[in-house]
Amino acid sequence: MQLMGMVRHGTCVGTRRRLSDLCDGELAAPAEARVRRHLAGCDRCRRALARLEATIADIGRLRATTPPEVSGLRDRVERRILQGPADADGPQDGGR
Ligand SMILES: [Zn+2]
Repeated sequence: MQLMGMVRHGTCVGTRRRLSDLCDGELAAPAEARVRRHLAGCDRCRRALARLEATIADIGRLRATTPPEVSGLRDRVERRILQGPADADGPQDGGR
């Protein structure tokens, strides 16, 4: 009887830990070869890698489309919040 789905090249846990390094191209050649051998025989880890790559692509798109003014806007909004509402400068005891 054959063991279906038996993984010979590393464990799923060890592979998943290396997936982000694999995407970043930061794995040493032997480690990358081991991860790729595992991926070749492991559907679940291949799907995990696909999800990770999709997420990385989304982040890349967000970074590419976020205008640089947004970070400045965030600072301005924070200052406004710390200063309080603009119309709190003078006493405004208006009658209702
Ligand atoms: Zn696996």
